[in-house]
Formats: sequence, structure tokens, C-alpha cells
Amino acid sequence: MNKKYIFIGLLAAAVFQSCQQNKPAADETAAEVKLQSPSFDADSAFAYTKAQVDFGPRIPSTTAHAKCAAYLESKLKSFGGEVFIQQTTAKTYDGKSHQLKNIIAAFYPEKKQRVLVTAHWDARPFSDEDPNMGMRDKPFDAANDGASGVAVILEMARQIKEKQPEVGVDFILWDIEDYGSANDETPHETTWCLGSQYWYKNPPVKGYKPIYAINLDMVGGSNAQFTQDEVSRKYAPTVVSKVWSIAAEIGYGNYFINVASGNLIDDHYWINQAGIPAIDVIHYSDASGFYSNWHTQLDNLNNIDRNTLKAVGQTMLETIYREKSAL
Ligand SMILES: [Zn+2]
Repeated sequence: MNKKYIFIGLLAAAVFQSCQQNKPAADETAAEVKLQSPSFDADSAFAYTKAQVDFGPRIPSTTAHAKCAAYLESKLKSFGGEVFIQQTTAKTYDGKSHQLKNIIAAFYPEKKQRVLVTAHWDARPFSDEDPNMGMRDKPFDAANDGASGVAVILEMARQIKEKQPEVGVDFILWDIEDYGSANDETPHETTWCLGSQYWYKNPPVKGYKPIYAINLDMVGGSNAQFTQDEVSRKYAPTVVSKVWSIAAEIGYGNYFINVASGNLIDDHYWINQAGIPAIDVIHYSDASGFYSNWHTQLDNLNNIDRNTLKAVGQTMLETIYREKSAL
């Protein structure tokens, strides 16, 4: 289906170009890629990343965490989302108790066909992968590992408010994803992803069944490459091929690479346990591991790349705007 579509597209582009002589090369490229989605603004997504980082590390039970929650809630409301905060007291592996807040926003709630997009908004309390041993118990900005995915979602929400897609869109910002134990030996790494685990065990809307879900994690690093992890391939193979082929078609195949990677428990695992096919878009490969500044002091705003935010944000919007509502 996609091949035929691309062929027709190329043919149309060729006819178009033959009537438009002396056009610069850049315009010819633009004519080939006909987006159905509004243009994702990477400057805006960068500003939303900075706004979160400016609160300080969004570590559970801190003022920065509380202030950021209020900011995210009001932002999503300002874009027209119906916002619901799912709250509970959660205990982390170190025995501490925290107020957990999953921030849920529904756009066009009257639409039956829906797509869910998620990201975690909390920051890990320590940079335990930092090369400097003396820094490993210190907090870090978590500009990529947390803020970038949320920023992409905020910019998506802003665009979705302006131009209505055929399907409804829900967003969930997960809390306390990144407070897990580095020595977690449990089968499903249950010291991590506390927000999505809680949501899976306590569904706020019974029978909620979007057609699929996409989780974004570390989507703002330079030269990011997103591989196809085992959980995504096992539970949602058609969603993986849909998203990766759309990315390639609109020019982001160098980010969304056709490389399989191993088992990875992220929030998408718990969405899948809720019976919703869910994939993860995460900067990870078996060869080089996670994003190079993962859980280090260098996961800061200086290392956020607008090009990566654009590649992910535009691919997400294009995926959503191509969905047709069932009659
Ligand atoms: Zn992390």
C-alpha cells in the first residue's frame, strides 16, 4: 500500500517539477514530500524543553516537581485539552514515599477512534552513570531523559488545537518512571515505571481502547537513532512498521533506523499489559546503548538538538493526521 502511494506521489512530483523550471533543489525535495500534518515547530518544542529544565530537576517530592506539574497541567488546558490528574502515594525502591501524578489530557474526547502518545515527565534523582564518581549521587537537568518527550507532546498538542485530526488524541505524562534501582533483578524491572504501572493496575477509564500508543523517551539528543525494541516488535509490529515507514517517507529514515534491538522495559511495556498495542521511540541501540549522556550531568539543554525534536515531532504528527476515523 505504501509503495503504491509513494509511486503515485513521485509521479505527481515529477509532473509538477516538469512544469516548474528553474526551481531550486530544496523546493523539488519539498514537493516530493506532501505532508498531511501541520508543520511541527522545533523552536517551540525547544522552548518547552527549556521551560521544564528551568524549574530545576523534576525529582519526585521536590518543589521543582510540584511547579512543573502545575505548568504542564495549565499548558495542556490552554491548548484545549480535557485534563485529568491521576494521583496516588507511591513508594520507591529506597523506601521513600512520594505523591505520584500522571497528567492525562484528552483532545476531541467525542471522537471514538483515538491514538495515545505518552512520555515521562519526572527526572531521575541522581546521575549514576556519570563518568565522574563524585557526581553520581547528584541530580541532573534531565533535558533529554524526560523533558524532550514532554516538550514534543506539548508542541503536538498546540498543533492539534489549531488543526483537528480525524482521530482523537490522548496524551499521558507519566510520573516516577526514572526512580528505579540500577540493580533491579525483578522480571519486569518493577522498581521503574511506577506511573504507568499504577495506571495499568488502576485504569481511570474502564474499557479505554485507543487503536495504539506511542511512548517517547529521549527524543532530543544529537544524531539520535531509534531502533525497534523487542517489546514494541512483539506487541505492536504493525505500529512499528507504520511509524518507521512514515518517518522514512517524510525524510527521517536516518533517525528511525530499520534495526531491531533487544528487550527493553519502558512505559510502553505497561501500556501493552493494558491490552493497547504500544511502541517505544527511544534513543537506544544494542551496539551503543542509550543516549550517550544518559543519566549523566551532560543531559542538559546544551545537548538538546532541534533537528531531533523536529524529526520525532513531525513523524508523530504525520502518523496521527494520516489516521482516518471509522464510519
Ligand atoms: Zn532515564
